Amino acid sequence: MRPLRIALALALVACASACATSGTQTGPAATPGRCGDAPAFAAGGERATLWARNSSEYRAATEGIFAGARAALAAGLADPAWTAEPSQTGDLSALPPAVIMDIDETVLDNAEPQAEMLLNGTCFEEFPAVWDAWVAKRSAPAVPGAAGFIRAARSMQDPSGRPVRVFFITNRECAPRAGSTAACPQQDDTAANLVALGLDSPTLADDLMLRGERPDWESEKRARRQAVAAGYRIVLNVGDDLADFLPGVRRATVADRDAARCAREAWWGHRWFMVPNPMYGSWLVALGDDLEAALAAGPAVIGDCPRR
Ligand SMILES: [Mg+2]
Repeated sequence: MRPLRIALALALVACASACATSGTQTGPAATPGRCGDAPAFAAGGERATLWARNSSEYRAATEGIFAGARAALAAGLADPAWTAEPSQTGDLSALPPAVIMDIDETVLDNAEPQAEMLLNGTCFEEFPAVWDAWVAKRSAPAVPGAAGFIRAARSMQDPSGRPVRVFFITNRECAPRAGSTAACPQQDDTAANLVALGLDSPTLADDLMLRGERPDWESEKRARRQAVAAGYRIVLNVGDDLADFLPGVRRATVADRDAARCAREAWWGHRWFMVPNPMYGSWLVALGDDLEAALAAGPAVIGDCPRR
């Protein structure tokens, strides 16, 4: 999960002195959404978190998306020129098929730690430890529809009888953990979480591609998409953030991000499937720190794509 960067530099400074370093505030009871005198890490996310966790609308949306993805996968498998990776062109029938999926808020549902961070007033500086502790619990539920989609995808084949392999390109970071000698305990945890959801596979460890697992596997996911594209026809891509699909949008402006969306307008809902995540993401980073100003500025930069 990407840290929410609506944090003002001010908040970080305030947290340094006002907040505890191990998950919850010390002293007076935590004020939801507040880190001392500053906004907490997930501040402002109450409605988004409740929508993702407590609404039938969210479940209906995600299950609908995965049903559409399943139908698209069947169509894409039958067409050897079909790809969800812009760098792949021509007859791709020499390559076995694959699907790329993000993990957080695409396959695994993290509304629970979002709610806890809101209630606890978790500070920005506390986020990495709180997040790693959540990953280590290995207990995230599946995003509705995701598990069924993955099982269905793995049961499908291309016209040459080659099964679909599902790769998970995630910005969960390989990082040392106190008390663990594993090189990437987060990979072990994520695999165990998927196994607990009935999503084991003989190649699961290799299917999981974490940030920092290799030197060029940075938060920008392009290198990992290219690593998959070297050996597989990427039939579908499923994520919750524009950066799961497109390079160079993680720190782009709102207008530039939308131009990138429009450049592949025909792919959304056909080759690329976006799972809604109102809680966090690069969309929020692009809005900057002053969300009231973003509200006042209006929606002008997002609209219909130009006719080509
Ligand atoms: Mg995600």
